[in-house]
Amino acid sequence: MSDTKYYPTIGLEIHAELSTETKMFCSCKNDSDEERPNVNTCPVCMAHPGTLPVPNEKAIENVVKVGLAVGGEIANFSEFDRKNYFYPDIPKGYQISQYKYPIVSGGELAGVKLTRIHLEEDTANSKHDRGNFSLVDFNRAGVPLMELVTEPVIHDAETAMKFAKEFRLLLQTLGVSHGNLEKGEMRVELNISISPDPNVFGTKVEVKNIGSFSAVGKAAAFEIERMIDLYEAGRQDEIVQETRGWDDVKQGTYSQRKKENSNDYRYFPDPDIPKFQLHDMFNLDEMKKNLPELPWQKRDRYKKDYGIKDEDIESYVVDQTLGNFFESVCKILGNPESIKIASNYVTSDMVGLLAKDEALKMPSPETFAKLIAMNADAKLNSRGTKDILAMILAADSDPEAIANEKGLIQQNDEGALRAAAQKAVDANPNVVAEYKAGKESLLMFFVGQVMKETKGSANPALVQTILKELLK
Ligand code: ADP
Ligand code: ZN
Ligand code: MG
Repeated sequence: MSDTKYYPTIGLEIHAELSTETKMFCSCKNDSDEERPNVNTCPVCMAHPGTLPVPNEKAIENVVKVGLAVGGEIANFSEFDRKNYFYPDIPKGYQISQYKYPIVSGGELAGVKLTRIHLEEDTANSKHDRGNFSLVDFNRAGVPLMELVTEPVIHDAETAMKFAKEFRLLLQTLGVSHGNLEKGEMRVELNISISPDPNVFGTKVEVKNIGSFSAVGKAAAFEIERMIDLYEAGRQDEIVQETRGWDDVKQGTYSQRKKENSNDYRYFPDPDIPKFQLHDMFNLDEMKKNLPELPWQKRDRYKKDYGIKDEDIESYVVDQTLGNFFESVCKILGNPESIKIASNYVTSDMVGLLAKDEALKMPSPETFAKLIAMNADAKLNSRGTKDILAMILAADSDPEAIANEKGLIQQNDEGALRAAAQKAVDANPNVVAEYKAGKESLLMFFVGQVMKETKGSANPALVQTILKELLK
């Protein structure tokens, strides 16, 4: 290892299929769940000669929405271009895309500066896994595909992964794409370079075939490491501009092809599609006002209104159902202390239980809030709260009735607890001696004895105070 420091640079290109009713340039159904091949097709998306594309305004609107959300500039003039290349999944001989006039320019997401967001059509799907021949499924051909490009301003794998997650969250919040990486609805491509000089870019390598968020992080880390190793070995001339694939089994990247240049595509404006004026098509101010609450706005609001842990906030922002549940609970509880308690029980207990057992269901916010209120009022200790939580997830019923019936109401009566504590002390003279000799952790042994004696209903904090007194 030399002492040279290497500066990694990453720029992302992310494609996302828009979840519109119909395809980008024809009225075929846009259905990523369709399993039968070639059913959502027509002469337009099958590239029959003489057919004319008609742009899907909803898809354009969705890209504008994303652009407004990230604070990008919405172009006034925009157009579609032909990106020419040959491949069986693109039978027109070109893909309709955008080149000089993307719908969105600039903007920022998760602290990363964006270059552009444009709209294009997805290709058909080639199946090469059937033996000696390949098949082409046109269900995906012509599905609206949004492409986001970031500036080369990311410098570590973790940030690249976080960015991709945040982008998907934004798409889901706006309701414009499902963004499922495993299904290929969202495809993340990494551009990575390494340089010993922070002011000079190194040769960039593109990494594709990334099927999950964790693979985004792992592929970036692997590629950075691979290139640094080449530098360290004095073999940096082996870093060439190329496309590499991520192999999830081998957990590594491999060379796919040396990179073509964008001028090989001979882009030119598609003469069959009218150019469009976005500022005339949409009321941008109105659209901006009507955007839903965005993930980062929600984070700020949760922080300000509830003062809960960032980790908890993230659970609510990522899982809208859980977030809505928590908000309803907060409305019922009202006070900040109970809300913090509620958040702990939601994220560490309820979520865990629900994940373990499919038969369990979220209770009503009223039921849950009542349970938390009992805990906050010291009517239930944490053991009792957890036990009742498990019961109300199995069947939504009144926590107070359960507590009474099962004898779980917290024992706060000092006299009774003192008696139980005295009993534990008297029964264990040896442990008392050890405790007095300095082994203070044995206090918890006595707490345990009292909890047992009271069938778990004792107020543990009160028991500790009493025991400390008795053992002085
Ligand atoms: P190309 O013409 O090869 O497609 P672009 O300039 O359009 O290259 O950039 C494509 C992506 O690569 C962008 O996300 C950009 O941020 C990123 N990128 C460009 N140069 C570098 C570099 N030296 N290192 C890492 N990423 C880069
Ligand atoms: Zn069609
Ligand atoms: Mg490019």
